[in-house]
Amino acid sequence: MHEERGGVLGLFGGTFDPLHVAHLRLAIEAREALGLAEVCFIPAGRPALRDAPQCAAVHRLAMVERALADLPGFSVDAAEVLDPAGRPSYTVETLERQRLLHGAQRPLVLLLGADAFARFEAWHRWRELFGLAHIAVATRAGHELKVGAGNTALDREFAARQGDAADLAGASAGRIVCFAITALEISATAIRRRLALGLGVRYLVADAVLDYIDSHQLYRTSHGH
Ligand code: ATP
Repeated sequence: MHEERGGVLGLFGGTFDPLHVAHLRLAIEAREALGLAEVCFIPAGRPALRDAPQCAAVHRLAMVERALADLPGFSVDAAEVLDPAGRPSYTVETLERQRLLHGAQRPLVLLLGADAFARFEAWHRWRELFGLAHIAVATRAGHELKVGAGNTALDREFAARQGDAADLAGASAGRIVCFAITALEISATAIRRRLALGLGVRYLVADAVLDYIDSHQLYRTSHGH
């Protein structure tokens, strides 16, 4: 056990363009289901495998900070979103950096949606991720895990590494754990689209995020900010 080193730390990366309530529920439910001491949100600077975010890094960061402001047990790591070089964000480099910050012993758990995990083999140096952190995959109705039954390299890793929440504290990295979350069919893409059309997004995002979007007039046109 490594409890004396601060407990199991969840790491939740994303573009958060903008942060919405399904992101928040994933983190909250992960903390409960997996017994995490804390969940750290890590907004990406320039995501490697997708288009540039519509909204500037400072705004995406500010929305995460505001949403988490009065939520004990949740924090934000701004290092990548504010990277002056604007390098692409690779999860393996994120985890290498976190590993240096927290030491070799602390259990780290990368939190992912099932959709993200299904594309895992396309990620830069993906096999190295297992040596750096545990992986926890959030499943929900309509987005169940499709990995594990076949014979791809990822299927084989999954079969060899699958465990449950109780295994996480006993090692610093290497397990894959699935946990079910409340199904919320919300995406940042749909929120951006609604805002560009002049439609409302109350209750799809935290009130603090809504206030920030309104006061900075974010996403109101398709030109970005
Ligand atoms: P976009 O629509 O711009 O692609 P997104 O809403 O999927 O954005 P991201 O920032 O790309 O948000 O996602 C960060 C993480 O949150 C990913 O691991 C993704 O699987 C997860 N996630 C996103 N939306 C949901 C949702 N509705 N339910 C559960 N997990 C989600």
